[in-house]
Amino acid sequence: MKNIQFLVLITALIIISGCGGDKKADNQTPEKLTSSEKKEPKITIPEFNADSAYYFVKKQVDFGPRVPGSEAHNHCSNWLRDKLSTYADSVIVQNFSAKVHTGENMPGKNIIGIFNREKKKRILLCAHWDSRPYADQEKDASLHNTPIDGANDGASGVGVLMEMARLMHRERPSLGIDIIFFDLEDYGEPQGEQSPGSNNFWALGSQHWSRNPHVFNYSAIYGILLDMVGVKNATFPYEGFSAYYAPHIIDKVWRQGQNLGYGKYFVNSRAGRIIDDHLYINQIAGIPTIDIIALDQQGNSQFFEHWHTLRDNMDNISQKTLDVVGKTVMHVIYLES
Ligand SMILES: [Zn+2]
Repeated sequence: MKNIQFLVLITALIIISGCGGDKKADNQTPEKLTSSEKKEPKITIPEFNADSAYYFVKKQVDFGPRVPGSEAHNHCSNWLRDKLSTYADSVIVQNFSAKVHTGENMPGKNIIGIFNREKKKRILLCAHWDSRPYADQEKDASLHNTPIDGANDGASGVGVLMEMARLMHRERPSLGIDIIFFDLEDYGEPQGEQSPGSNNFWALGSQHWSRNPHVFNYSAIYGILLDMVGVKNATFPYEGFSAYYAPHIIDKVWRQGQNLGYGKYFVNSRAGRIIDDHLYINQIAGIPTIDIIALDQQGNSQFFEHWHTLRDNMDNISQKTLDVVGKTVMHVIYLES
């Protein structure tokens, strides 16, 4: 993903932050009803397991950098498909080809898990599974063409969603869920070759899916993208495009996170706009979608310290942050009726 705060003039985006028990026929009054007598369905929210999420992150990283076209990328795609198939009702692998910044056509795979297929009311959850071919934020320029592990930048969001898939298999939420692992998110031009007019080479898997969803006339009430959700002591301010396209979802998710006691993570501050998978889901597919993405909260919209370097590896993954994000999103979707 790419921070466009410094490339595009920022226009002001405004955030639009944006019954009693049933009466019985006999002599029992509403005052006497206890909460257990009210006919509200009991909602069980399965307990998110951070160890398991961490294992799913590590599993991806252990294949090696998941750079499109590489053997590691191929092996990891098979694992993602097979693992997700053990949890979801069905899995679709959407093969596509996209022109990358070098001018070549690169094959990609979006991996999609479907839960409660029959439900009309659906939520889309997504993350990118590819890792960047360039460590172009390394100080040493000789390392710039080295692929990165992408433990945070890619694998962390997928790990959290795979753990959620495991839990949804055991205890279904009441609505339909689609989990999409997008490919070719991080194949944008290396630092130094970027220009304001060349933004389209990021989030290629999401661009493809947004134009060609896996179901004809696909719709979801909203979407949640997870990116860089394994950062130690992460803060998640409101990313700019999310606040513009889906302020009500930002509000819902941040309130839930804060209610769970994670106000240190889900901070009420505003960040700049990030070109990431959610942008195209909003703009092309028309589904209001937010990006939960670790950024500094000083308003600089800086990514985490090890972003696009060789130190974006398992040493810098925090189970606590995976847990905070996983528990929050689990509550959001299970409490959605
Ligand atoms: Zn990246």
